[in-house]
Order: sequence, then structure tokens, then C-alpha cells
Amino acid sequence: EPPPGCPPDVEQLGRATWTFLHATAAYYPDKPTPTQRANMLMLLRSLPILYPCTWCAQDFGRDIEQNPPDVSSRVALSRWLCERHNHVNKKLGKEMFDCAKVDERWKDGPADGSCD
Ligand code: FAD
Repeated sequence: EPPPGCPPDVEQLGRATWTFLHATAAYYPDKPTPTQRANMLMLLRSLPILYPCTWCAQDFGRDIEQNPPDVSSRVALSRWLCERHNHVNKKLGKEMFDCAKVDERWKDGPADGSCD
């Protein structure tokens, strides 16, 4: 972990980006307007072009070509993103995340109130 004030390494950048993407998906509308859908598609399709980790960006680009974003609803988008994150987890030898728990992790917090 680089000291505070240092440029992000690939891990820090990844954690920050997943936090942003999962949180944004968690608060995406249940019934998005055409404009909201189009903007979410642009956000996701920008990553393979702009994400400042070249091999991450390339692999994400290939993955979303094979598994196009589902921007039809909050639940669909959250699941799609969870699956893309699991694709990266698998590649890196990390644990798979249970996608039934995305809302608990990124929106509601655990039922025991420990995050309230
Ligand atoms: P992270 O994987 O960053 O996850 C953060 C938190 O999200 C976890 O602690 C967990 O609570 C939660 N979480 C985990 N999995 C899921 C899931 N499936 N759904 C919802 N929540 C989940 N790194 C590389 O070395 N090579 C790459 O090719 C690469 N590609 C990347 C592509 C993208 C688009 C992004 C955003 C990141 C990429 N990274 C890559 C970074 C990598 O995914 C991790 O962010 C980094 O290794 C730090 O991992 P971490 O163990 O701290 O947790």
C-alpha cells in the first residue's frame, strides 16, 4: 500500500473504481429513462478506452464485448457488474463474490446494523 499522498497503484485504483461503479449501480433507477441508460452505457464503454491500467482496460473491453452491459434496471445492472468483477476476481485468483449479496455490500449494509 503506497503511503497517503502517493499516486494510486493498480490495487488502490481498482478498489476505488469498483467502489464507485458498484455504488453507482446500487443507486441506478429501477426504471431508468433512455437518457439514464445511454449515459450509463457511455460510462461503462469509456472504461476500456480511458481506464489508466492498460491491461485491465483491454481485458475489461474484451469481457464486455462478450457480455454486453445490462442497463435495463438497478437489479440487472448490479448483477451484471458483480459478474464482471467476478471475472476479474477469477483472473487474479481472488475469491468469487456471492452476487445475491450486492445490495447488502453496496447499498443496505448487513442486517445486524453493524454498518449503521
Ligand atoms: P477489489 O477486487 O477491489 O474489491 C473491493 C471490494 O468489493 C471487496 O472487498 C468486496 O467487498 C467487494 N467485491 C468483491 N468482488 C465483488 C463482486 N464480484 N461484486 C461486488 N462486490 C465485490 N487488477 C489487476 O491486477 N489486473 C487486472 O486486469 C485488473 N483489471 C481490472 C479491471 C477493472 C475494470 C477494475 C475496476 C479493476 C481491475 N483490477 C485489475 C483491480 C482489481 O480488480 C482489484 O481492484 C485490486 O486487485 C484490489 O483488490 P481487492 O482484493 O482490494 O478488492
